[in-house]
Amino acid sequence: MAEEKKKSGGGKAFLRGFGLFATITGIILAAVGLALLMTDAEVESNIKYALAIAGLALAFIGAVFVLCGIKKSKAEKEEEQKPIECMYCGESNPPMSKYCRKCGKALVKKCVNCGAVLDMDAKYCNTCGVRVRKDS
Ligand SMILES: [Zn+2]
Ligand SMILES: [Zn+2]
Repeated sequence: MAEEKKKSGGGKAFLRGFGLFATITGIILAAVGLALLMTDAEVESNIKYALAIAGLALAFIGAVFVLCGIKKSKAEKEEEQKPIECMYCGESNPPMSKYCRKCGKALVKKCVNCGAVLDMDAKYCNTCGVRVRKDS
């Protein structure tokens, strides 16, 4: 379960890393292709065009990968925008609050699977390992 946690966090880091690598490689390829097009290098023009186009495509794909790595998932966004109801006094607190603005107690949520009390920002239950979503 701890591994699962790492995997989901590492997935985006991998996307970003790979995307960045692809973007840079693509730009270099495109630059080489365009440079060859502008010079009279003894390379067939088909190959020059192919190199430039492949480079641009790779850079584009890389940029998409980077964006995917940065972008938050829909569930994560919803989670952030959801008002947090205090389990002690029932006050509805602004999203991302850590403490209740009415009674000052730490805002927590309960695991849907085992009922353990978790931190608001917990993604997984530290008692049973289940992925914690909305507690409603
Ligand atoms: Zn409260
Ligand atoms: Zn649990």
